[in-house]
Amino acid sequence: MAKKYDPATAIQRIEQFGEFGGVNPSITDSATYTFLEEKTMIDAFHGETEGCFLYSRHWNPTNKYLSDVLAAMEGTESAWVTGSGMGAITTTLLQLCNTGDHIITSVTTYGGTYAFFANYLKKFNIEVSFVNITDLESVKKAIKPNTKVIYTETMTNPMLQISNIPELGKMAKENNIKLVVDNTFTPMIFSPAKLGADIVVYSMTKFINGKNDAVAGAICASTEFINDISNVNDGTAMLLGPVLDPLRSSSILKNIGTLHIRMQKHSENAMYIAKKFVEIGLKHNYPGLQDHPDHILMKSMMNEGFGFGGMIAIDLGTAEKATPFMEMMQERGVGYHAVSLGYFKTLFSNSGRSTSSEVPVEIQAEMGLSPGLIRFSVGLDHDIEASFQLVKSCLDDLKLL
Ligand SMILES: *Cc1c(COP(=O)(O)O)cnc(C)c1O
Repeated sequence: MAKKYDPATAIQRIEQFGEFGGVNPSITDSATYTFLEEKTMIDAFHGETEGCFLYSRHWNPTNKYLSDVLAAMEGTESAWVTGSGMGAITTTLLQLCNTGDHIITSVTTYGGTYAFFANYLKKFNIEVSFVNITDLESVKKAIKPNTKVIYTETMTNPMLQISNIPELGKMAKENNIKLVVDNTFTPMIFSPAKLGADIVVYSMTKFINGKNDAVAGAICASTEFINDISNVNDGTAMLLGPVLDPLRSSSILKNIGTLHIRMQKHSENAMYIAKKFVEIGLKHNYPGLQDHPDHILMKSMMNEGFGFGGMIAIDLGTAEKATPFMEMMQERGVGYHAVSLGYFKTLFSNSGRSTSSEVPVEIQAEMGLSPGLIRFSVGLDHDIEASFQLVKSCLDDLKLL
């Protein structure tokens, strides 16, 4: 397998210092900035002043530090940080599309993203086609003259399908379409921009920050695109204002330094649990196992050394079985019955009734989202064997096997 990209080393090599030589960059806790000369201020409004800051909705030095690290991680020219993952996704899409344009998206995406596509973009008369993103023929067939964006998640939520980024990238390029990829589930594991995506978006709320103390997002793209979204006249980020607070930028930046270690441990623990699920004959979905339909594709796209990720889904068939199981797992200390992911504790929820509840039940059924699907974000448990035994005791006591 060819060595692809090493996002961990790209981050490790960055040197950023605080005002007094501090090993962490200083926090610029200011909304506005003084100018010695009027001309510099005028130039700044025209986006012509390198290294100058104007107003923190536009750019803030602390946000720039975090953005530079994210750009290094993705291998993109630039990045811009937002107050939420949805802020990153909606800013990107509203920048790329005008009234009358068309978007092709994977039908399985984060619930909020699905709702934005299905309900919100109607306001702007932007048409959206929902496709099975693993069926490249159906993606190709959906392309129209006014298609501006192909949208997907590298590892989709909650079905854990893998998108073929190189092929989608080629298809997009040939048709003058932008490929936008949400890599929230798999930071470091995949480098979508290196594989052919034009823009990579993140909810940093999840693995990247990993502390569940903040909501944040990021857009990683070319300098041209980042300049476009922050343009004072017509930039979506500048005009809709989804900027991240610099105090949060600083705290997230400090957590990124350990992201590669956390991803390795999440992956190691998830692989352990997935293999146990195979052993006990539980219906499971983990892309790291050979029985996953996209396992080989994942291996062809992934970077080395971060594993197959921390997300596993199981299927108990019905919500009536899933509910007591989740409640018992929480009671016995497996982790928390909570949405979200990337925390040091294992988190689990019934996707159909929670993070994908925005997706109508008929469509859930169509995409194969079982009402008994439980999504696990496997934690950083030191004794994963003991944690699995707790899971097993719940399955046994509820007679679910
Ligand atoms: C959580 C999530 C989002 C939304 O991010 P927020 O930070 O909650 O706004 C988008 N995409 C995926 C895959 C997510 O898991």
